[in-house]
Amino acid sequence: MTPLSRRHILELPTFALMGEAPAPAARAFAVAEPDRWVKTVCRYCGTGCGVYVGVKGNTVTAVKGDERNHNAGFVCIKGAMLPQILTSPSRLTHPLIRRGGKLVRASWEEAMALVAARFQETIERHGPEAVAFYGSGQALTEETWVANKLMKAGIRSNNIDGNPRLCMASAAGGYISSFGKDEPMGCYEDIDHADVYFLVGSNAAEAHPILYQRMLRRKERAPDTKLIVVDPRRTRTMQYADLTLLPKPGMDLSIVNAMAHVIFKEGLADLEFLRQHVTYGAGAEANKTIEDYRTFLEAYTPQRAAADSGCRVEDIVQAARWFGERGRATMSMWTMGVNQRIQGVWLNNILNNLHLITGKIGLPGSTPFSLTGQPNACGGVRDGGALSHLLPYGRLVANEQHRRQMEELWGVSAGTINPKPGPSAVELFQAVESGTIKAVYVMTTNPGHSLPNASRYRKAMASEDCFLVVAEAYHPTRTSELADVVLPAALWVEKEGVYGCTERRYQLLEKAIQPPGEARPDFDILCDLARRLGHGKLIPYKTPAEAWEDILKASKGTAYDFSGMTRERLRAAHGLLWPLPEGNHPGTKRRYVRGDDPLVGASHAQRVRFYGRSDNKAVVWLRDQKPPAEVTDADYPMSLTTGRVLEHWHTATMTGSVPALRPLNLEAVAELHPADLKRLNLKDGDRIRLVSRRGKLTLVARETENAREGSVFVHMHDPERLVNVLTIDALDPGSKEPEFKIAAVRIEKE
Ligand code: SF4
Repeated sequence: MTPLSRRHILELPTFALMGEAPAPAARAFAVAEPDRWVKTVCRYCGTGCGVYVGVKGNTVTAVKGDERNHNAGFVCIKGAMLPQILTSPSRLTHPLIRRGGKLVRASWEEAMALVAARFQETIERHGPEAVAFYGSGQALTEETWVANKLMKAGIRSNNIDGNPRLCMASAAGGYISSFGKDEPMGCYEDIDHADVYFLVGSNAAEAHPILYQRMLRRKERAPDTKLIVVDPRRTRTMQYADLTLLPKPGMDLSIVNAMAHVIFKEGLADLEFLRQHVTYGAGAEANKTIEDYRTFLEAYTPQRAAADSGCRVEDIVQAARWFGERGRATMSMWTMGVNQRIQGVWLNNILNNLHLITGKIGLPGSTPFSLTGQPNACGGVRDGGALSHLLPYGRLVANEQHRRQMEELWGVSAGTINPKPGPSAVELFQAVESGTIKAVYVMTTNPGHSLPNASRYRKAMASEDCFLVVAEAYHPTRTSELADVVLPAALWVEKEGVYGCTERRYQLLEKAIQPPGEARPDFDILCDLARRLGHGKLIPYKTPAEAWEDILKASKGTAYDFSGMTRERLRAAHGLLWPLPEGNHPGTKRRYVRGDDPLVGASHAQRVRFYGRSDNKAVVWLRDQKPPAEVTDADYPMSLTTGRVLEHWHTATMTGSVPALRPLNLEAVAELHPADLKRLNLKDGDRIRLVSRRGKLTLVARETENAREGSVFVHMHDPERLVNVLTIDALDPGSKEPEFKIAAVRIEKE
């Protein structure tokens, strides 16, 4: 395919690229007239935009947005460049094996025989907990299902976790502790009905541009729609905000609690909704009352929150009034700025609290709604139960009844599944470091780039004591360079399977072309490995569609029931939202809501039933503000935060390989406030060294008023300048998600 020039890019009417809004995003892009169009889903983010790829021969030559999908035919700049991810020169087309310290070409038979032998030998000598699988929210649901089944029912190890632990685990923990089950209850369509958007820790203009554009379209139609943005950094998302709050890093729980304080004080709470649908605290913190909650909130005056956060009292009060105003619909949205924190679950809980205390939940435009980073973190890993403590579709490893159900569904004897949850992502690599885990299979992800405190875990992965297998579409990546075996994987439309995005929307990706060279779908590679490890009977699938039949059965009768989502229906539809039980149910826009959710029942006495919990009630939690894991001090006086930019995605293995995107913002720079530069006797363009307790990184300083004074922002995409050598591997105790967003650093001139 002809490389795109910068002129092509600039001609694209993509609002976010041009820095102008609310002009439309791109609808189609082609470099050659295709012979046929194939319906699929964007490979990148959790927005899950529907696209068609245009195919000529065995080449994808065009892409266009699916007008009948939620994105109404629009795609962002990354989506518009999708065809080029397939033809990158860094696509891996044959297996590699490390020999004499170097990765050299090998046959599939050599590579798979080696992987199987090393895994088998490790299991025999050290037990099933000496091997591990590290998966991804980018793998297809059927691939993740096979890996999960192989590990938990075949190898009998719960050492399976994945990169959703690094991004969405706190949102999942928040939903589960507030509502009993994971996943949002609202939908994208709520954006069209909201009168107030409350965005916390989300730079949606860059990380979820199609959803941000939908908000702006609503604001255009209904100019009184308010956009409130809370973020320690001034972002593009604030460009159209009606109210911005820039708290000190990590101090936003005080703001949210203070908003609840104001909501009660000004009579904006929906006391009848609270009486019917809410309980206060649960588990070890059960038996609290509304009086306890109101007493707890007494301490969170707007003045206290202003002192904690550095924001203005009147802004906190205004945010509460707009949020709580009766008769107006409020939609909260958040992402990594909330989740990647040691208080991530707690902040999720109190965002959910705001909706519960105002009754602004389960109504058009009123919902708490976390935005997901990866295209199949929800569908494949969270729903599919492919984390170390989970089993599929709301079941838990630690729950005996759940284990028995899955043992029956998987056709293995009772007692097969180990009752002890395995390690979370960071803990898994700590076990590699300590030598407890000796062999790891990494699929469709790049932990050598994306783990916090990266040097520590890169060293563990590179150790001779760790046998590292990486199944990847590209080489080298910051993980494949450390591997003992690299397996070439098919990518995106070179294979078939299901993705599930932010709003419980499941979609089928159709296979459009053959993979390059000897690359194979991960599904085939995993089935091959299962056979070689003696688990061919457990993993008998010849196609992903066969696995999907088992997946439907596992969802049936659960709070995630999508047993009516047959392959045929997925193929015909432009996305289906669960719950969607067997039969002709159209799918559920608003979960837990009478008349919409089939699991509630049309004749239910109340308008919502939070059936995720046995008492059918949601939980309001009393959650205090605590300091971040690492506070600034005399040695490390600046606060580091990390994030994304519009043109790149995650570890940039895909966007960094697109010639038109590569020159745009891939090089990480240190964004600093002018006052900090002046104080440090630096200027824009100087080379500086950021130093944390864990590592050092040399970058160019970039002066910008967008930076918060005392803070430095560095994006996470650049594979040559790994900001994660600086970040901290402190974990949220509830979700085990690391605090990527806050670390203490000092700045030295090079
Ligand atoms: S918003 Fe996300 S899913 Fe949609 S086109 Fe852009 S990258 Fe793809």
